[in-house]
Amino acid sequence: MAKLLSGKEVAEALEKEISGRSALLREQGIVPKLVLVRCGEREEDLAYEKSILRQARHSGIEAGLRLLPETASPEELKKLLNELSADRTVHGCLIFRPLPGQLAAEQREICKALAPEKDVDGCTAASAATIYTGEGAGFPPCTAQACLEMLDHYGIECRGKRAAVIGRSLVVGRPLAMLLTARDATVTLCHSRTEGLGDICRQADIIICAAGRPGLVTGDMVRPGQTVLDVSMNFLPELKNADGSLGGFVGDTVFREVEKTVEAISPVPGGVGRVTSGVLMKHVAAAAERSLK
Ligand code: NAP
Repeated sequence: MAKLLSGKEVAEALEKEISGRSALLREQGIVPKLVLVRCGEREEDLAYEKSILRQARHSGIEAGLRLLPETASPEELKKLLNELSADRTVHGCLIFRPLPGQLAAEQREICKALAPEKDVDGCTAASAATIYTGEGAGFPPCTAQACLEMLDHYGIECRGKRAAVIGRSLVVGRPLAMLLTARDATVTLCHSRTEGLGDICRQADIIICAAGRPGLVTGDMVRPGQTVLDVSMNFLPELKNADGSLGGFVGDTVFREVEKTVEAISPVPGGVGRVTSGVLMKHVAAAAERSLK
């Protein structure tokens, strides 16, 4: 049976670290502050917002909320981002994504209005450049960084290891492939057109699933000794819970099959997702520390 990589444990360790850093900042007259920008009332955004606000309270980070209607124009959102970029009391800004349609189409242009040093969830081109070059003012997307926090916390070495990353989105897979490469892993970045996914997975030492496809990684695609991180959060309305209620989240792995073989695995829920908001706080603390320099 695989070792369970608990996101709760990692999130609590992060919380402790950030609380200490926030207290030091406050002693120097800086209150680390995050502002969340939400356009509309998507259920997923509301749930993530709740978890961020709770994490901020536990981490000594002040958190504010700015709301725009789902119908907001690109100009309205850009104006707000310009305002937050100029506000010296704000150190970090997170824009809930995906944005509503008319804004999503303009996302790249809109994100230019956010100062890269406040881009704590890696949505600007400057943050992407930081991930590629290892230099600059931006931050990696929190979910991608959360995977590294999980590996670090459990002492899983990347250097010289083969990593299979399944999913090539700009939010998770692609930045993660670059972050793992920077850690000297040899990365295969897989996507919906990848052939021989099973072979690639079996050859890897570390498998990271971020395809959003329940049931994608089965027991015959893994071997002993591997670490599996499952980033995906797939909602299944028909899933039966222990209390008899219906509806819940699963990852991309067939957990009951994969856990029998591999060395270590993160569960869904309670795995990488739990760490993401802790990483956000870490980025805000880092942005506030940089503002002192
Ligand atoms: P996305 O933008 O839809 O990207 C999915 C990626 O998976 C694409 O690159 C797609 O390939 C690839 N893919 C789809 N089917 C595949 C298959 N059968 N085999 C191999 N690759 C396949 O999704 P995302 O935003 O990256 O999110 C991925 C998952 O992570 C979702 O379940 C989401 O809920 C979860 N997530 C979790 C967190 C967290 O904090 N835990 C944060 C963000 C996202 P193509 O490029 O070829 O289409």
